[in-house]
Amino acid sequence: MSRKVINNMGRCSQIFQPVNIAPKDAPVKADVSKSYKHMVDAGIIRKASTGMYTLLPLGLRVLEKLTDIVDQEMLKAGAQKILLPALTSEKLWKKTNRLTQAGRELFTLRDRHNNSYVLSPTHEETVTDLISIVGPLSPKSLPLRLYQISSKWRDEMKPRLGFIRGREFIMKDLYTFDAGPEEAKITYDIVNKAYENIFKQIGVPFTKALGSTGIIGGSMSHEYHYSTDVGEDTVLSCSQCDYHVNENATEESICPSCKSSLVKDNTIEVGHTFLLETKYSEPLHATYHSGHGHKPLSMGCYGLGMTRLIAASVEVLSTDQELRWPVALAPYTVCVIPPKAGSKEEIASPHVERICEILSQSNVDFIIDDRTNLTIGNRLIYSRKCGFPFVIVIGKLATGSSPLFEFHDLTSPKREDVSIETLFSFFNNQDTKSTEEIKREATIAS
Ligand code: ATP
Ligand code: MG
Repeated sequence: MSRKVINNMGRCSQIFQPVNIAPKDAPVKADVSKSYKHMVDAGIIRKASTGMYTLLPLGLRVLEKLTDIVDQEMLKAGAQKILLPALTSEKLWKKTNRLTQAGRELFTLRDRHNNSYVLSPTHEETVTDLISIVGPLSPKSLPLRLYQISSKWRDEMKPRLGFIRGREFIMKDLYTFDAGPEEAKITYDIVNKAYENIFKQIGVPFTKALGSTGIIGGSMSHEYHYSTDVGEDTVLSCSQCDYHVNENATEESICPSCKSSLVKDNTIEVGHTFLLETKYSEPLHATYHSGHGHKPLSMGCYGLGMTRLIAASVEVLSTDQELRWPVALAPYTVCVIPPKAGSKEEIASPHVERICEILSQSNVDFIIDDRTNLTIGNRLIYSRKCGFPFVIVIGKLATGSSPLFEFHDLTSPKREDVSIETLFSFFNNQDTKSTEEIKREATIAS
């Protein structure tokens, strides 16, 4: 559960959340996934133009939560955060021979002096040029690990499914510089461990597969995939051991380690790690003082599709009817629904403050559905539409001398009526125990 306290509007009535009001029987376009439909319907994202989307306030909260998880893991992996310019001179892309390779996928433009630029689809050239300008580096400054979280542009042949394949999207990209290949491999293992930690915290099942090095280049690569029917990749997994490979990176028909059969799965690539060696540092002269002159640095690059990860998580977890978030990324973890104005339950309204206090003390981010002109039922429907993982309703049972509150866990069909003490221990122990365990313990204690 996210403990991140972020810019908190706090009240549903204040959120800018233009929901989709397309009639229910409107034909669903063939190329619309459930994640895209749910995210547009719930006012999380809005299309701006082909392959380009606005993250609305709830969507941006999700990105900020993911950013927080990624920043913490990058810090643990010894990486420093920077921000490179969006435009890269075409000259640099010519030096690495990628201008023609990337071809029409590049968005390019000219300034008033007729200089040409690339709207960066990735930043190997820019960051390697930075190191070249400030170098040669001292061996003491190695390993150097620099990352950013920024927009990328790719004029994809077939942009589709919202942020799953956009033309503008947000990526976390890390670039590493080491003295030699052995040191670079140590960095590679540390970063792959950080990726595994990130994926575990998000909580959606993932597969780490051997990948192809493609146009990025280098000597080794791994990809991180989510399994979903809308995915455009195919991962081959051994039926007996832990061997996984992208179909495009192999010609094998059986597992090379245990000779068992390989099983195909449709997936989306959400992250990619590359051991680059000197593919960029040599042509762009990014070097260090080796004691025997200046030597090119051994590099790695590591991409994580932030906006694709968000959309792909929703795709994996949602049902056709309901939007589901990983609890760690949900725009708000809890929605509190006070009684309807003018109803018999209105006398229970003072409990709202106590519940909000408990949630704040537990660092749980919550929102109050203060639209008390609406029925509780209508506001519950809204909460489910937004995918808030937990809902607390101050309703009929809260009016008595031993007040109980409706507790809805989105992943479970039945609601529970719980005391304030149960709520308190549930939200204070959430990270270490299962929901069921906590509810059971709290009920016995109260
Ligand atoms: P794909 O094979 O899906 O086109 P890629 O191999 O081109 O992806 P990389 O260059 O490895 O992607 O980029 C790093 C990460 O950026 C990917 O793992 C993915 O999560 C994300 N990404 C790449 N292209 C897009 C896109 N068009 N829209 C959204 N995210 C993307
Ligand atoms: Mg890739």
